[in-house]
Amino acid sequence: MEKMLFKRIDVPNAADITVAEKHGAYSQVGKAFGIKPEDLVNEVKRSGLRGRGGAGFPAGLKWELCARVPGDVKYLLCNADEGEPGTFKDRFILEQDPHLLIEGMIIAGHAIGAQQGYIYLRAEYPKAAGILEKAIEQAYAKGFLGKNILGKGVKFDLSVHGGAGAYICGEETALIESLEGKRGQPRSRPPFPASSGAWRKPTVINNVETLANIPFIVALGAETYAKIGEESAPGPKLFAVSGAVNNPGGFELPMGTTLREIIYTHAGGIKDGKQLKAVIPGGASTPMLTADHLDVKADFNSLMAAGSMLGSGAVIVMDDTACMVNVTAVLIRFFEHESCGKCTPCREGTGWLYKVYRRILSGEGKPDDVDLLLSICESIRGKCFCPLGEGAIQPVLSSIAHFRSDYEQCVNGRGCGREEQCRKVLH
Ligand code: SF4
Repeated sequence: MEKMLFKRIDVPNAADITVAEKHGAYSQVGKAFGIKPEDLVNEVKRSGLRGRGGAGFPAGLKWELCARVPGDVKYLLCNADEGEPGTFKDRFILEQDPHLLIEGMIIAGHAIGAQQGYIYLRAEYPKAAGILEKAIEQAYAKGFLGKNILGKGVKFDLSVHGGAGAYICGEETALIESLEGKRGQPRSRPPFPASSGAWRKPTVINNVETLANIPFIVALGAETYAKIGEESAPGPKLFAVSGAVNNPGGFELPMGTTLREIIYTHAGGIKDGKQLKAVIPGGASTPMLTADHLDVKADFNSLMAAGSMLGSGAVIVMDDTACMVNVTAVLIRFFEHESCGKCTPCREGTGWLYKVYRRILSGEGKPDDVDLLLSICESIRGKCFCPLGEGAIQPVLSSIAHFRSDYEQCVNGRGCGREEQCRKVLH
């Protein structure tokens, strides 16, 4: 497949607008402005584009819900707060091709009737912040942002808003709270942001990768775009591959590429000639799979049918020397630390999970601890205010389901000879 989202990634200095324009940046803005906003929304609906942040909600439907709400003030927010362990796919666009994102946002703003956009940027991406600020300044200077874009009477202002340094701020309503200057905690829904979002105005929140697809939908037309990848989720997909592979990094592939092709063809296979033991296909909050799942297609429906999720497309690979108790303990430490504390099952439950993992890894685990972990997960499942709590239990449930023997080796006092390594992950 010819690269689309990564088409300028290898072009030197593509973050500079002069270089980016030479390679096609902003070429679709004029065409999009010639299309009525409601037709643009329909075009994105017909393209089948689904959100790339994790939930996979149809992007065109989200736009339509917002566009239909009466009112002169609407907001377009770009969720650039990718903070889940293993997730770094948006960073390539933010740092190496920011004009692709800006172009997508200008077109999206026109479609939904928003004249103000914000890029809510992960606090831990200071390099991207400087690059985005400069790119936005250049876009204003060239007339792609501002009061009268390309002399067509379209207004769209854009700025970067630094994130609060909390994983929960990637959840869209917590992101809005944080943008408004409050503590980043999720809001109760309904109302949904499309009708009452930032400053209680109709708001669309799209992920970086989702917005980066928009210029290509305009360029190709919905029908041609919809033929790329999977019928149930068309388009290209960015995968961020990390862990025990020879060639970790970001890859643009058609949606529906198998895990085997992602790991063995593009990421170079398992390091040091070892075997794959486990793979997390979509970021830390998606259930682990095993070598038996390598032929599963990486798309929303196929991974769901296999018992996991596409999530953000962050593929984390473990080889056959990995201890899944150790791996899961590290992930639980992250979720326990990042729980915002608003609801008890998540706040207390993730704390208890981490306590039990600490006990097991310190060599004091009891035979009942595996069932205790499952029982804590049951106290969290379906009882949390936002998806973080539900996501936190996925590594626990899936690692016990697939690798229970790793746990039993720890809690039955047999040991594996690598206890010192395990203790290093404890704080
Ligand atoms: Fe906060 Fe966790 Fe409850 Fe979400 S599930 S609101 S992160 S405490």
